[in-house]
Amino acid sequence: MARPPAPGTRPESDARTTDRIADLLDGLNPEQLEAVTTPHTPLRILAGAGSGKTRVLTRRIAHRVLTDDVDPRHVLALTFTRKAAGELNHRLRALGMRDAVAAGTFHSVAYAQLRNRWADRNIKPPALLDRKLGFLRRLLPHGADQTQLLDLAGEIEWAKARAIPPERYERAAASGNRRTSIPAARVATLFERYEDDKKKRRMVDFDDLLSLCRRAITTDAEFAAAQRWRFRHYFVDEFQDVNPLQLGLLHAWLGDRDDLCVVGDPNQAIYAWNGADADALVSFAKHYPTSHTVELRHNYRSTPEILRAANAALGSGRLAGQPLVAARASGPSPRISKFRTDRDEAVGIARAVRDSRAPGQPWSAQAVLVRTNAQIPVLEEALRTAGIPCRTRGGGLLALPEVKHALAGLEGSRAPLGVALVDLELATEGADDEPGVEAERRGNLAALVRLGHDLLAVDPAASAGAFVEWMRASASTDQLGAGSDAVDLLTFHAAKGLEWPVVHVAGLEDGLVPIGHAKRDAEIAEERRLFYVACTRAERELRLTWAEQRTFGTRTMNRNRSGWLDDVEDANSSPELVAARRARTDRRPAGPPPSRRGTKPAGPPDSALLKALKDWRSSAARGANVPAYVIFADATLEAVAAARPTRRTELLALSGIGPVKVERYGETLLDIVKAHVDA
Ligand code: ATP
Ligand code: MG
Repeated sequence: MARPPAPGTRPESDARTTDRIADLLDGLNPEQLEAVTTPHTPLRILAGAGSGKTRVLTRRIAHRVLTDDVDPRHVLALTFTRKAAGELNHRLRALGMRDAVAAGTFHSVAYAQLRNRWADRNIKPPALLDRKLGFLRRLLPHGADQTQLLDLAGEIEWAKARAIPPERYERAAASGNRRTSIPAARVATLFERYEDDKKKRRMVDFDDLLSLCRRAITTDAEFAAAQRWRFRHYFVDEFQDVNPLQLGLLHAWLGDRDDLCVVGDPNQAIYAWNGADADALVSFAKHYPTSHTVELRHNYRSTPEILRAANAALGSGRLAGQPLVAARASGPSPRISKFRTDRDEAVGIARAVRDSRAPGQPWSAQAVLVRTNAQIPVLEEALRTAGIPCRTRGGGLLALPEVKHALAGLEGSRAPLGVALVDLELATEGADDEPGVEAERRGNLAALVRLGHDLLAVDPAASAGAFVEWMRASASTDQLGAGSDAVDLLTFHAAKGLEWPVVHVAGLEDGLVPIGHAKRDAEIAEERRLFYVACTRAERELRLTWAEQRTFGTRTMNRNRSGWLDDVEDANSSPELVAARRARTDRRPAGPPPSRRGTKPAGPPDSALLKALKDWRSSAARGANVPAYVIFADATLEAVAAARPTRRTELLALSGIGPVKVERYGETLLDIVKAHVDA
């Protein structure tokens, strides 16, 4: 489907270039070919996972360069993480673009431009605030706990991602349904003080880099002209994850030009919790009425079996489009395995990694994916014990604010590590067994404590300070090993955009998939998309595992299989097998069907009962001096009011109620329900 050359291109006489262009277009399907060669801008390429979006984006750049439509030095390819930028660079180099095309993150480009500006004007650059938590801690009163500190940091980041200044925070938090341990009015005050303090000390945080760059462009015509001279053709990958702050900067860079090509998949939007807004992608045509959209329809990455399973995993999380058509040959159906404990699961995965390794295939053909960072250490240990090299990207645990903060507190300390670990362990204990944000943080700290015990096992006299050095050293060897052959071990979020022939997805239990703190429909839908991202990383083999018992810190909890596994299992089963599985599930004693668990209660909640439950919760919260949601989330009480359970097992089947909650409040809940039903 040859198209006329873009306006302004001149016919290529060089035979080598003609060959290179032919290579570039070779094997593309008609939609991909259109996406690569259409002269239209702005251009949006919209398609599901594994359909060749990143492939098309990089080839479009190469095609425009080779047809002399653009000078590679004026091209900017943008994405959101350093890892994704590395992937873009890698693919561009493979197409012979070498270093002429700039590919980077919004932050790295903004920082480079600002540094030039400061240097040109002889301005001493402000210091970059990279220890935000320590800075924020000084703003909180003595006795404020880790949760409040992390919530404050999270809220400030969310607000800045959405370009919300302190004075508008309170209202925005209310309409955005933000839940924090600090009242919104107080967050707003602290946010304002944070900004003031930073200014006084001439410091900037990472998000300031974006807003400063944007401001410099909109207020300084000379600076704007220089940047717009430098970069004239913009390409953005993973556009579904752009946040309003980044979008504002992109618009400033573009000025009144519209040479913009964005690619993305609304069904992989997984950063709304952090301020991103897929609307920029979905409503692109509204923002750019003259834009053109190309949709890709075939998936080249995964077997039809994996694609069917992934589409079923997405379920109600689908934001747009029809499922893709598989272009690859058939392969095995995804396999689901159950283990007794999380340790057994880790050992089982290590064995499966070994079994799945085809002769001559590198370890790097496989990945193990998890929902939370806290799941990584036990898997890492099992793989290493089995003699399988593995790497965690982005520093794993070390990248987490609560872990960084805990380690900063131990840095340089000569106190015995054993004593320090006891203190840390205390910090991992909490009143709430429900796997919420807070429990997730405690889980991460518990994982750190376990690593501390690993060091003590080899060096009983280790100091707390030595532990910090040891942690950082092992993280940096992971980085060093980045080019070597190893199994990748990473979170669903970190796996976006990547692919492996064999993928193991671990921890498929209620509370992890979906994550326990996802309650609202929009949050559950984002969890669905995250599960879809995980499943769509696999090319020919997808293995899904879960454990009946999992240890969080010092507590071992019974676990239920994720209801979404039923959807995945059914996707590749015959109607008879689906019917048989449903019959098995229906014979389960309690609760709504598992595929609904964690989403919505079975029927409408009984409003009088719901009120009685909420009244009880208010007094219990007052008595325990904790916010009401710590006792039970609204969604959990709604589920109780809808299901009207009569037994403990029925309570356990509801989302947001685990064994400890049943132990603590089960009888009371059942009494309230019974009193209501009897009345
Ligand atoms: P994601 O949404 O996960 O980022 P994507 O849409 O960016 O996926 P790519 O990573 O570009 O997809 O492509 C997925 C895989 O399919 C890659 O291995 C790519 O090389 C391959 N692929 C894409 N298009 C074709 C094609 N026309 N022929 C053969 N292989 C293809
Ligand atoms: Mg991609």
